[in-house]
Amino acid sequence: MIKLLLIFVPSLVLSWDYKFSGTDWPGLCSTGTKQTPINIDVNSTVRVFSNEPEYSWIHFQMTENPLQANQDAGGYKFVGTFGEMNMMQGNLPVLSTNLINFHFHSPSENFINGQQFDLEMHIVMQDKDQRYNFVVFGVLFRVENNAYNSFINKVIESRENHVIITLAEAFNTLQIKDYLQFSGSLTTPPCTENVFWMLDTKIRTISPEQLRFFRSLWSEKMDYAGGNGNNRLLQPVNDRTITHFIGASISLGYIGMLVILFMS
Ligand SMILES: [Zn+2]
Repeated sequence: MIKLLLIFVPSLVLSWDYKFSGTDWPGLCSTGTKQTPINIDVNSTVRVFSNEPEYSWIHFQMTENPLQANQDAGGYKFVGTFGEMNMMQGNLPVLSTNLINFHFHSPSENFINGQQFDLEMHIVMQDKDQRYNFVVFGVLFRVENNAYNSFINKVIESRENHVIITLAEAFNTLQIKDYLQFSGSLTTPPCTENVFWMLDTKIRTISPEQLRFFRSLWSEKMDYAGGNGNNRLLQPVNDRTITHFIGASISLGYIGMLVILFMS
């Protein structure tokens, strides 16, 4: 009897899945008020232009790693030391992190303007100054017929083999100047809050075949979660402020407006 308890109790305590898309998860997952994912209505964000003093941009420094993906209950995950991120205000770093894992959700967890995307990558980081429990940078992908994403190809290959991966390959530039920022949580139990979230406004593309790989792991694998993906359902925004850091300055915006007026 005691043996039976020892076997069953840990699995009862630790296990969770996507059979109800997270609506049955306990603790903060059901009582928290700053949970992720959310739908971001870009029109109701607070805008900070690049010529304003509080404007911040993101600078990644990535390192190469030979890695193999590991699949757990939640997803398709790479654990290692992938580099560092500095959030810069002018020349001053205001947030410095170490990158500790990256993983995928399909379909996307966060929405923009009511739209869900095909795939979302989360780069999870530790705040060097420990002001935040975690820092997460989200990247959205959508399927396009003629697209081919070489970074995603490596991600897929590393299910079977060790593949040298650098997260730099996911980006055209390691200086991110236009992104959304909000306070949120982990999207899996224990749904820890005080997570500093950033979401890239640049949407990347993948091929239909590449998406098929992720669907075969989750939403099209009937014994995974009965047809659900590994995406938690949207959470209420409540009274949170979502900031849009805009890579252009106000004056550039005005010039753009003048050009449009001039041309019309
Ligand atoms: Zn995630």
